[in-house]
Amino acid sequence: MVYNEELLIMDSYLIDSHAHIYLKDFKGDIKDVISRSGEGGVKKILLPNINLETVPAVLNLSNKFKNICYPMLGLHPCYLKEDYKEEIDEIFENFNEKIIAIGEIGIDLFRSSKNFNNQADALRIQCSIAIKNNLPIVIHTRNSVDETIEIISEFKKQNLRGVFHCFVGNFIQAKKIIDLGFLIGVGGILTFKNSNLKNIISQINLSNIILETDSPYLSPEPKRGKRNEPLNINLIAKKLSLLHSLPLKNIIKITSNNVNNLFKLN
Ligand SMILES: [Zn+2]
Repeated sequence: MVYNEELLIMDSYLIDSHAHIYLKDFKGDIKDVISRSGEGGVKKILLPNINLETVPAVLNLSNKFKNICYPMLGLHPCYLKEDYKEEIDEIFENFNEKIIAIGEIGIDLFRSSKNFNNQADALRIQCSIAIKNNLPIVIHTRNSVDETIEIISEFKKQNLRGVFHCFVGNFIQAKKIIDLGFLIGVGGILTFKNSNLKNIISQINLSNIILETDSPYLSPEPKRGKRNEPLNINLIAKKLSLLHSLPLKNIIKITSNNVNNLFKLN
């Protein structure tokens, strides 16, 4: 199904800035998933890593689909074990010049609040790696936006850049993130009927927003509950277009430009 024939003609395209399509959920049909997304106007898909185990899959998929899939390296806070320092070291032994960002990293106090100190330490270590390599970071937060903002603020003078992926905080938090020079990652939650996110995102300048699916999770309406895939970024862009009362092509141009600038993809 071609969603955006018009888009392909005008050479404007969508980017999914956050998709875990290297996971087992896509094992049987990854080629179809990527070609469907391409036909739907999604030309680039950014792959955040989770832990040491997922590194080969992230790197392999990026090698196989060059100039479509772009790899990141990082240790996700939900996968922190006691030996997280060693795991971070081992993950970054795979570092190469193709890595576009450090992610996903961050703080998750929903799944675990007991190891906050370790999570904070892992985040600081990986922020330092990003600064050393002049790369942006992709941040995961859950019940932890304020705590994460506080840690990221420590690096303000070192020009750390990045995105708060799948943002679900309030307007004050969004403003703090933007003041830090970070972008707001907007995904399927924007389309959920019971979510307050649309009221916040409608007040945020588009220059601070990038779009993402977080595939296979968080499918937008009307596909909520099903496996998510990069093609569905179309549904999120359309929702943003309605909220900001701007033509879809403008939304796509601005948000894709934001992604290209942050991750230096061009
Ligand atoms: Zn993610």
